[in-house]
Amino acid sequence: MSRKLHSDTPQVDEIAARPRPHKAVRNPERPLQRWRLTIQLAFVALCLWIGVEFFFFVRYLESGGASTWVARPPGAEAFLPISSLMSLYYFFLSGQIHPAHPAGLFILVTIFLMSLTFGKTFCSWVCPFGLLSESLADFGEKIMGRRLRLPRVVDYLLRSLKYLLLGFFLYAIFFVMGEAALRAFLDSPYNQVADVKMYYFFAQISSLAFWVIAGLVLLSIFIRNFWCRFLCPYGALLGILGLLSPAKIKRNPQTCIDCTKCARVCPSLIKVDQVKTVLSDECTGCLQCVDACPVANTLQYQTTIGRRRIPKKLVPVITLSVFILVTGLAMLTGNWQNKITAAEYLRHQQYLESYGHPTDTQGLEELNEK
Ligand code: SF4
Ligand code: SF4
Repeated sequence: MSRKLHSDTPQVDEIAARPRPHKAVRNPERPLQRWRLTIQLAFVALCLWIGVEFFFFVRYLESGGASTWVARPPGAEAFLPISSLMSLYYFFLSGQIHPAHPAGLFILVTIFLMSLTFGKTFCSWVCPFGLLSESLADFGEKIMGRRLRLPRVVDYLLRSLKYLLLGFFLYAIFFVMGEAALRAFLDSPYNQVADVKMYYFFAQISSLAFWVIAGLVLLSIFIRNFWCRFLCPYGALLGILGLLSPAKIKRNPQTCIDCTKCARVCPSLIKVDQVKTVLSDECTGCLQCVDACPVANTLQYQTTIGRRRIPKKLVPVITLSVFILVTGLAMLTGNWQNKITAAEYLRHQQYLESYGHPTDTQGLEELNEK
């Protein structure tokens, strides 16, 4: 005899049609943080190599040309971002690559392109200061046993400092200086030996500069990324460019289990677990949140148009490819080495102390008039 179901009992079809509670599928992807550290260390090694070569180059200058000639490493121009930004603007105005620090210009373009693809990945995959800052913060969290967070208002106020610094530089370069003033600055003996001047800034560091740097190191132990988050105008510019990137980290709220792991690991203190798309100038594309997410296909890079998934491995692959392609292009087109001869460097070395640069907008306006 067929048994008639009670009228309150759901029928089989009805049960099948109901939305079932989501069963989380474990994220099978391997984390990329070891690869990130390896790439960061490779760039630290590259910078150390450049530093050693530059040391011997300066020794040659100091000896008046008597010691063995060591060529100046063009990679040192990576540490001249303001001169490089002026050079880039000069290129847009005149269509010419200024010969003083061409490698710096190409490195700047490389970093801009990186930011336009996956956000400011330069900060978390390439920049040696980024790695130093991260290591200091990891050390601090180990000894404190927790991550310190500043009150939100203080954090916002401090974060605005880097934009004020950036605003000053952009105003001075793009609104005060004309093409003639740019050319005058880029041609000036100060700019030509800006890398040597920078070397002496650190090699013969003043007590004020020493204590300022020591203070920043100390603060970076207790407040994660103190320099990068609050003061670096370069990072501020890359953060703005990163917002224009067509690739963004997106969270799928349907599969998210609200474990908050992504937000807890984020070094930029972004509340990844509460947004659908990470739209922040502070995101460095470090992938720590994506690596920490325990659920498959829940947190990932996607294109903003079409929402196509981008495999996370493409972040380091494209970042490194951009670096190799653009710097390689500079080398192949003869725009890597500058055109300053050893004799010119030796002459500049004698007058190094007397070389200076405008320190305010009035000085820049005088440069325009000259
Ligand atoms: S949101 Fe993710 S990728 Fe961006 S900084 Fe935070 S952890 Fe890194
Ligand atoms: S890590 Fe973040 S996105 Fe992934 S499940 Fe947990 S809360 Fe959701």
